[in-house]
Amino acid sequence: MGTDDLQYWLARFDAAVASAPRGPFAYRRAFHHDGGGHGFHLVFGSVVHGDEVGSLPAVVAVAEALVAGTLRHAGRVTLFVGNPEAGLAGQRFLEADLNRVFMDEPPDCHEGRRARELRPILDAADVFVDLHQTIEPTRHAFYIFPFQEDGWLWARAMAATPMWVTRHPGTAFSTGAMCADEYVRARQLPGITIELSQRGFGHGAEPRAEAAIRKALALSDAIAAGTTTLRDAAMAEPELTFLHTTHREKFDRDALALRPGLVNFTEVAPGDLLSAEGTPELRAPAHGWILFPKYPPRGPDGGYRKPLPGEIYRIVEPLPGHPRDLYR
Ligand SMILES: [Zn+2]
Repeated sequence: MGTDDLQYWLARFDAAVASAPRGPFAYRRAFHHDGGGHGFHLVFGSVVHGDEVGSLPAVVAVAEALVAGTLRHAGRVTLFVGNPEAGLAGQRFLEADLNRVFMDEPPDCHEGRRARELRPILDAADVFVDLHQTIEPTRHAFYIFPFQEDGWLWARAMAATPMWVTRHPGTAFSTGAMCADEYVRARQLPGITIELSQRGFGHGAEPRAEAAIRKALALSDAIAAGTTTLRDAAMAEPELTFLHTTHREKFDRDALALRPGLVNFTEVAPGDLLSAEGTPELRAPAHGWILFPKYPPRGPDGGYRKPLPGEIYRIVEPLPGHPRDLYR
């Protein structure tokens, strides 16, 4: 990823922020638009992980269109760039993963301070959509967040992708940490994460993100105007394919390595060899699709940089029914 490209898009984002009226959410690297017609507030996050920059051109395009008046929106929308400092350093984060520190007392570090800055925006959100990207290539874009009735309806209505990797609403992402979307869901409001494409510019994230943002803006205006309901708008789109995680392979030793070529949504059968030659054998325990395969670089001593990711890969499979019925 070229940090020159990131600098270019950040400069355009900052210019859009500077030419928008100063509003209540005119924080650093946050664009706010208030159409004055209704109070419904949509919030979109971009670059919460510093190296997941692919949605930024879409966010810039929407902000510029709102400033120019070529995109009209009667409600309120905030678009924020989460961790550009890490992005400019070519990293996921500088000191702590921003998407783990939205807790009551964020740690005193770059990301903790940024979470503190962003929380008032999330506190005022009616719907929050966080735009992420995967490390390795992916055969599908996918939503990933626990089941939530309104989150399902918004995700289906936005139609950013037909795939949703979901889980029981009672299961936290990781204990002692708080993601941005989770922070919003804690208020019983839709907190939606989309994995748009492989990380970086030019991998397909931009048109997908822009279409989803525009669709969400139009929908909130239509709901406010009484011309549709969230449920009707969702039902007008195809039902999502619900997937859940059936296996997580622990990444607990430096000796482990995946065989080359596994990407998100590589299909596997029970017994398929997943480990690299000459490393401890890893075989798929069940049928399904690989998600989040990890190929971290090794250091000069041959070991991986610590801490290791929690899992070296996981397997997802279709849920045996609708999560609304399974997770009640
Ligand atoms: Zn991410």
